[in-house]
Amino acid sequence: MQEIKLRKIVGYAYRNVPFYRKRFDDAGTKPESIKSLDDLSKIPFTVKTDLRDNYPLGILAVPPNRLYCLHASSGTTGKPIVVAYTRGDLERWSKLMGRTLDITGAKKGDIVQNMYGYGLFTGGLGFHYGARAIGATILPTSVGNTKRQLMLMKDLRSTVVTSTPSYMVYLVEASRAEGYDPRTDFALRIGIFGAEPWSEESRKRIQDGFGLRAHDVYGMSELYGPGVGIECERQNGLHIWGDEFLVETINPDTGEVLEPGKEGELVFTMLSREAMPFLRYRSRDLSIVYEEECACGRCHSRIARIKGRSDDMLIVGGVNVFPSQIEHVLMNIPGLGDQYQIIVSHKELDRLAVKVEAPPESLRDPNMPKRIQEDLFAVLSIRADVELVELGTIPRSEVGKARRVIDLRPKD
Ligand SMILES: [Zn+2]
Repeated sequence: MQEIKLRKIVGYAYRNVPFYRKRFDDAGTKPESIKSLDDLSKIPFTVKTDLRDNYPLGILAVPPNRLYCLHASSGTTGKPIVVAYTRGDLERWSKLMGRTLDITGAKKGDIVQNMYGYGLFTGGLGFHYGARAIGATILPTSVGNTKRQLMLMKDLRSTVVTSTPSYMVYLVEASRAEGYDPRTDFALRIGIFGAEPWSEESRKRIQDGFGLRAHDVYGMSELYGPGVGIECERQNGLHIWGDEFLVETINPDTGEVLEPGKEGELVFTMLSREAMPFLRYRSRDLSIVYEEECACGRCHSRIARIKGRSDDMLIVGGVNVFPSQIEHVLMNIPGLGDQYQIIVSHKELDRLAVKVEAPPESLRDPNMPKRIQEDLFAVLSIRADVELVELGTIPRSEVGKARRVIDLRPKD
């Protein structure tokens, strides 16, 4: 099925998108030469800057009056990336989102409290369509307003919750601060968390805090939105929906294709998107592809939890640092709070500082900063200044993604 779809989409992209025609012609590749999955590596990559260079809709394969919907990703710099959907694309995406919910055990009768942002961001509407596809009841609370989220979660007996993991970690403590017992006052049984990298330790805090099963979900606006991949009940890697996405890993420096099981940058080919066909799109996300069959019996290949977006990687004094590595260390030390901040500055040399919240007994423990510093050094091989601060003093993520990293270095 993948080969049939691949041949079809390559021809379609070549005929209908001048950008792809030029790419193929420049590379000397004929669409007819893509016959099997083994020929995938002959296709030139598509990268994020191609989308920016062709802003807003230069990669469109259909006339604009056939579009049903447009979304855009929040560009931190410059122009956003605009993504377009035909009616067929929206139907396909809705089905994928339905499956993404179904694999977690969500079903008709569940109340899905959707705490992803509604709007240009694809998270809110993506899960909205998915809940509709499986016949569940949608509670579209969107982001923010924590008190109301908790009140409705309790009073309407929400059973499924979707949000960024950092917001859900925050809700564990916020619910206690509001006088709830998160394990007994709510009826949550399933949580689906994504849109930012998170750790096994965050998963444990969410699961233990609310007594639910937390699933990691993967996606990005460029690839419809959420619902590219999701963990099954085994929670051992995210199944990538193979009838819609071909996934490869490459060496991010050389572009060389890697064997399954090797860590590299994920590259996706969308097999049936009409409005904006995407061939070999470089995600910038680092992970590993596993092709062995999962214990659940599903044959869709899996990816490991995303280690980080190569764009998120900090280079501090020549050393690669992923915020997820720091989170992993902090969450493994008992007696620390859930909130932290990573501050990078430069004074003659790059300096890494980690600020983490801690309860009074840890604040009084004179050995705590040293212990954190040693554990960070063991993982990162660089020395970090560690500061413990009182609970509740680091700004919370009320809207979507947490701002964990503050880079104060001059930008030149
Ligand atoms: Zn599985």
